Amino acid sequence: MKKIGFVSLGCPKNLVDSEVMMGRLRQAGYEITNDASEADTLVVNTCGFIESAKKESVDAILEAARQKSGGNCQRLVVAGCLVERYREELRQEIPEVDAFIGTNQINDITTVCDERTNMRSLPVVSIGNQSATYLYNESTPRVLTTPGYSAYIKIAEGCDRPCAFCFIPQMRGHFRSRRFESVISEAQQLAERGVKEIILVAQDSSRYGEDLGLKDGLAHLLRALAGLNGIEWVRVMYTYPTHISDVFLDVMASEPKAVKYLDMPLQHASAKVLKLMLRGGTRTSLERLIDRVRRRVPGIAIRTTFITGFPGETEADFQELLAFIRNAQFDRVGVFPYSDEEGTRAYDLSDKVDERVAESRRARLMKEQARISRRLNKGRVGSTVRVLFEGAAKESDLLWQGRLETQAPDIDGCVLINDAPEDYTPVPGDFVNVYITEAHTYDLVGRIV
Ligand code: SF4
Repeated sequence: MKKIGFVSLGCPKNLVDSEVMMGRLRQAGYEITNDASEADTLVVNTCGFIESAKKESVDAILEAARQKSGGNCQRLVVAGCLVERYREELRQEIPEVDAFIGTNQINDITTVCDERTNMRSLPVVSIGNQSATYLYNESTPRVLTTPGYSAYIKIAEGCDRPCAFCFIPQMRGHFRSRRFESVISEAQQLAERGVKEIILVAQDSSRYGEDLGLKDGLAHLLRALAGLNGIEWVRVMYTYPTHISDVFLDVMASEPKAVKYLDMPLQHASAKVLKLMLRGGTRTSLERLIDRVRRRVPGIAIRTTFITGFPGETEADFQELLAFIRNAQFDRVGVFPYSDEEGTRAYDLSDKVDERVAESRRARLMKEQARISRRLNKGRVGSTVRVLFEGAAKESDLLWQGRLETQAPDIDGCVLINDAPEDYTPVPGDFVNVYITEAHTYDLVGRIV
């Protein structure tokens, strides 16, 4: 049986693509291995979003090429967003790669991994030369790579928004939703496999169902998923600020299994910069939105992301952003220095900001947010909270860890657990009550009660 090794980079949406490719390969009789050195074929599923992610992807391809030149594997396949962006450049510069598949060709993975396939005979299918149609569904085989109690579901693909800094629409194609029943059926299957936390992902989750003629599609989907047996948490990632309906918020507030957590990238707060980003809005409109979210869903945690150093951003614009987060007191914040991406509208803008200034603004914003996060976490000391138990802590074998419903996997802090009643050993996926005894900048510490 031929063995396939996978390297999956980038966001959870790309991870779902990797899981689908592994599922198809396993169904075709291949064995998936975690050990690259024993793989006959290596697949690198790349990210092409910003400079740092592109570099990480190229490094992973070069490492796989070294494995191949060293005789460790016979075939090297490169997939994902970087292929949509630089297919020709990659083909010329890394001749060790046997096959490239784009984001609209996921179903071709078994063909390109088959060494009998003559790659020159296959048509080059890219988002640029064909309308993107690819969507997986509930009968698509998938190998879950997340812990057994948690799984991502991709509810839509692509994006039609014009955000000036973003190349994703050109790598993923136009926005298209999966059928409502397909998502529900997949969630039911996952629940039967022991999954307790469903995480809905898309480039633009808020628009779910619009292209299918559904009004408030995301709200209805959330309510339906929250009603499934076995599912304990339903989390929505990647919502868009102009598309947060009261219906959606009311479902989040009224459904116990809909986690009180809103992931909503805002990117900036200065009206001038938001206009340059082609995202619109003002600081006041964003503050009104946050007030509305917090009024309709009491106790909700808000996660957001910002970009510093966007072309045209002045110190005054940055000061406005700083004042905005001081006032908004977000629970979770990620900040990225602007990445000047060829092929985006922002690339042609003037008044580029020096990278060192962009980076120092990122650091100043994160310093402010660390102060806010510490203060919010301190407010939890002395309380007992419900935690999804995950097992041994990543940072120490002496500790266990888990997550609150307001903590998403991999990007937010966690709850470190240093004690439990005698003879009580929970298993990953259990829900436990933890008495919080200590607060760190991003993590909490406590004991099971
Ligand atoms: S919403 Fe904007 S930032 Fe997000 S994927 Fe679409 S274009 Fe990119």
